[in-house]
Amino acid sequence: MKERLRMLVTVKAYPSISKRKGETVCVAGLRERGEGSFEWARLWPVPFRDMDIAGRFSTWQWVELDAQRTSSDQRPESWRPVIDSIVTREPVEPRAGWRDRLHFLEPVMLSSMCELRRKQEAAGTSLAAFRPREVFDVTAEPNDPWSAEHEAVASQTSLLMPDKRPLEWIPTRFKFHYSCGDVEAGCRGHSQTVVDWGLLQLYRNSKRNHGPAKAEGDVIQIAGPTKDTIFFVGNQHQARRGWMVIGMAYPPVRSEGESDQLRLELL
Ligand SMILES: [Zn+2]
Repeated sequence: MKERLRMLVTVKAYPSISKRKGETVCVAGLRERGEGSFEWARLWPVPFRDMDIAGRFSTWQWVELDAQRTSSDQRPESWRPVIDSIVTREPVEPRAGWRDRLHFLEPVMLSSMCELRRKQEAAGTSLAAFRPREVFDVTAEPNDPWSAEHEAVASQTSLLMPDKRPLEWIPTRFKFHYSCGDVEAGCRGHSQTVVDWGLLQLYRNSKRNHGPAKAEGDVIQIAGPTKDTIFFVGNQHQARRGWMVIGMAYPPVRSEGESDQLRLELL
């Protein structure tokens, strides 16, 4: 049964290729539940680059759409979207140190990756946002090459979008290694692959303009100490313990006084 969702998109993962679904994007965000309460929603499959321009939304933009539950993905946050029903609404701008965005995000954030793991075991939670305590390393590994079949899907042209460029295979897989807020409870940290579309796009642009060494440096920089980095982490429905950083947000670092002030305003 279809339901109308109103959600604030916070995550677009890099497009992925499958033989059955073609090129699709995993989208996630906060679904409005009324009375100012929100819960996570994941939309898949979203054939983003084949969609009509009018329906293409940005992260931090409200959208409304029809969606339904599916038996093939029973994670509590997952919905199958009706693509033609997507209506884009107002963006939430990053002004005033991200106050407007954090107003929606902070109340649903978890304290750590380990808290997400516990919630996954208890209730099947498969999606969350939290601040890593510290990103202490970013490693770049060679990515698995596409098969000939994947290659063929990636280079398919679109009748609706004649200007669509073939999806680019990214030769590097970035992994973030970070300490977790549960370090006192014995957590030794987490290592997760990043599939955030914005970050991988930044890498591609930088690599094209300045070469691979500078591009890798830019990725490492982005999670550095000048940002108050937030990770959006999700699992895969075939691999409930296979967590990935599916999206990232980089609010500016706040001074202690500012964050206290924000906390008061949010209460
Ligand atoms: Zn942990």
